[in-house]
Amino acid sequence: MKNSATVSADWIKALVRDFILTSPYNTMNTTTEEPAWDDALVGFASGGDQIWQQYKEYVGPFHWTPWEVFNQHCPGESAGAEELSVISWVLPQREAVRKANRRAKRYPSEEWARIRVYGEEFNAALRRHVVNSLKQVGHAAIAPMLVSNWTIVKSERFSYASSWSERHAAHAAGLGTFGLCDGLITARGKAMRVGSVVSKISITPTPRPYSNHRAYCLFFADGTCGKCIDRCPARAITKTGHDKEKCRQHLARSREYVKKSYKFEGYGCGLCQVGVPCEAGIPVKAAREALERGVLPPPPPPLA
Ligand code: SF4
Ligand code: SF4
Repeated sequence: MKNSATVSADWIKALVRDFILTSPYNTMNTTTEEPAWDDALVGFASGGDQIWQQYKEYVGPFHWTPWEVFNQHCPGESAGAEELSVISWVLPQREAVRKANRRAKRYPSEEWARIRVYGEEFNAALRRHVVNSLKQVGHAAIAPMLVSNWTIVKSERFSYASSWSERHAAHAAGLGTFGLCDGLITARGKAMRVGSVVSKISITPTPRPYSNHRAYCLFFADGTCGKCIDRCPARAITKTGHDKEKCRQHLARSREYVKKSYKFEGYGCGLCQVGVPCEAGIPVKAAREALERGVLPPPPPPLA
């Protein structure tokens, strides 16, 4: 593929934000034509970053590096890891959606369930839009979540895991760290959805402004909080972490509730993402202030 344009970080950020503003997919599918999303955070990681190899060791060997997924699906490009960039974005839940789900006690609010289905349809359309826009200007690209062999696998360590994790890509791209409930706490909080694309472009990586992969969670920072434990109706969160299987079973039960109560095929939960200190920002004061000042901590130790 012949490059016809120089793609910058600002070009990609504008591409994402313009799509949020103009795409007909950005809808909650209600009569009021309320949008699903109104903003995005965008970060970048190098395909040659050693963190991808660490994910293989931490998550499992089935977790693709950017190089593996790119070269499987763009074999004609034969790019080296360093020639690839991962573009990751965070779509923060709007205040109205968070507020509605804060009131939920067992199953999701209608607004939250709509975002889970229609907001994610937008996210898939955004992935396709970023891929196609990059291709149009001569840069091969793929969205790992949309490739035919993306799969969920059984994992001894995590019950199950997938061949590409959007949250791990966002963590690599400087967008957040993991909380006790497994959610990614970003500068705009944990109530959000994430997406990513791998492309043969050179974009300066976003620095990771955290000292470790749990730096933004109060429980890991100073042993306090644990509010997500109380919010979980399935008792899937404890001081030892997140039980993915209990969570999955609760999500499956929510399908019937959503259909009966809101009259559409959907599901969701996210009760642990709202009504908690990390809902819409970074609750660890020192980490939040360091990010605001643009201060970078020393390099973190490897994931363990
Ligand atoms: S609610 Fe508290 S313990 Fe749970 S992820 Fe957020 S900051 Fe961490
Ligand atoms: S999504 Fe729901 S079931 Fe899963 S951990 Fe969060 S609160 Fe619990």
